[in-house]
This record gives sequence, C-alpha cells and structure tokens, in this order.
Amino acid sequence: MPEQRVALVTGATSGIGLGIARAFVAQGTVVAFSGFASADEIDRVTAELKARGAAAVYMPADARDPRELAALVQRCETELGAVDILVNCAGIQHVSPIEEFPTAQWDAVIAVNLSSAFHTIRAALPGMRRRNWGRIVNIASVHGLVASVDKSAYVAAKHGLIGLTKVVALETAGSPITCNAICPGWVHTPLVQKQVDSRAGELGVDIAQAERLLLQEKQPSLRFVGIDEVAALVLFVASDAAREVRGAAWTIDGGWTAQ
Ligand code: NAD
Repeated sequence: MPEQRVALVTGATSGIGLGIARAFVAQGTVVAFSGFASADEIDRVTAELKARGAAAVYMPADARDPRELAALVQRCETELGAVDILVNCAGIQHVSPIEEFPTAQWDAVIAVNLSSAFHTIRAALPGMRRRNWGRIVNIASVHGLVASVDKSAYVAAKHGLIGLTKVVALETAGSPITCNAICPGWVHTPLVQKQVDSRAGELGVDIAQAERLLLQEKQPSLRFVGIDEVAALVLFVASDAAREVRGAAWTIDGGWTAQ
C-alpha cells in the first residue's frame, strides 16, 4: 500500500469536484484533476490546490470521449504511479419537458453523467486490482433515487450511475476495492446557479427569493448542502475505515429523500 495515495477526480475545475480535490490535497493525497476551464483558471486552481498540501496536476479529458477517459487514467498511472482513488464527478444538467428535450442534450447528459464513469472505472480497475487496494466514488445525486419533472436525461443517468455502482461493488466485493455513490441534494454550485437564475427569470423574483423557492420545494432543511460537507463524506468513503461500505447510495440531502 503506497504511503501517499493518488486520487483522480473528474469534473474538478469547479463546484463539488473542486471541493473534493481541495479536501484530498489538504489531507496529503496527491490529486490529478480534469474538467473544463480557461488556461488562466486551470493555473489558478492548480496553484491554489498545491498551496493546500499535496501535489495537484491538471490532466485534460473530455468526459464525452471514451478514448480521452482511458488516456486520462493511463496518464495518471504513468505520471503519478497509480489511481488509488477514482472520483467520478463530471456532470452536466439540461432541463426541459421530454417532448422538447433536444436529442443531442440527452446524449451529452448520458455521456458525461453516466458513461464517463463506466469508461474511467473500466480503465482504472486493473491497476487497483494489481495494487490490491482501491476506492471508487461516483457523485450521483438524489436524482439517482427519486425523480423531478423536466430532468429526464439527468434522472436516467443518475439512476444508471447508482446501478453501475452496485455492479462494480459486487464485482470487487471479495477485494480491498470498494465502489459507492454519493447522493447530494441541492448544493450551491454553478450547475445549480443556472437553475436558480432561470427560475428567477421565469417567476420574476430576485435571486434570493428564487433560492428560497428552490429549497422549499424539495429540501426540508431549507439550506444548501455545503461543498465541504460533500467532500468530507467522500474522504470518509475513500478511507480505510470505510472498507465495508460497498455499493451504497449515500444521501446528503437535507432530508430531501426522507419525505
Ligand atoms: P459544476 O458545473 O460546478 O461542475 C461540473 C464539473 O464537470 C466542471 O469541472 C466541468 O468542467 C466538468 N465537466 C462538465 N462537462 C464536462 C466534460 N464534457 N468533460 C469534462 N469535464 C466536464 O457542477 P457541480 O454542481 O459541482 O456538479 C458536480 C457533480 O455533482 C455532477 O455530477 C452533478 O450532477 C453532481 N451533483 C450536483 C448537485 C448540486 O446541487 N450542485 C447535486 C447532486 C449532484
């Protein structure tokens, strides 16, 4: 078992993924991270991560492209020695009634939120098996467990991601490799900000009121889940102590799915 583990986090240039990357480097885990951002933003994020503790290396890969995802895993293994922890966090949303849902958006949401995890897991598992240790954490959503209107692709992708998580958990159950899903409720990130903004526009209310309405509709705590709170849960699931947490779809949702 390596002294210093290596975590590969997809979708870590922003929001929840960036929070997870921050938490890993702060505990001394080396991080490779992917996601879209300008060159300046990538430099800024890389410097910020490195200042918090362990090394951080940006490795670009379009989560819609299976070859780029396989190459990402291979590059991480070659340059950093391993993918001990794989966090699939890249995600996009598109909101529209199904009759008007653009087919290209369906394909993109399924590719980024579901198929990308298949491709990275498929590429990373052989190395985890060779090293006899591994943690796979898929960032699903409450929408992997329950549905909301106008989110056909996202809900289908996240339900699929939880199914994939369970299969991988069973296929690795006899080994020190685990696979789990985390299911956050509303977390205040750019992905949710877009939904807040469009709700404010539709209802003719200000942003603060649109946020309150969004929370009132689904999240009984009436507060957003913190990015740092999701990251802390990921760190636990990725720890040695969580060795028998297998195939879980672990909610962190302010009571959303308790209703
Ligand atoms: P975000 O928009 O802040 O971050 C998304 C990340 O994915 C970014 O780094 C972006 O560059 C990356 N990404 C998008 N398309 C990509 C592509 N084709 N190739 C590579 N990278 C790509 O959103 P977020 O809210 O932090 O979402 C992160 C994950 O958490 C997603 O999987 C999302 O579904 C999930 N999630 C979010 C919430 C929430 O309330 N914010 C709730 C539940 C689950």
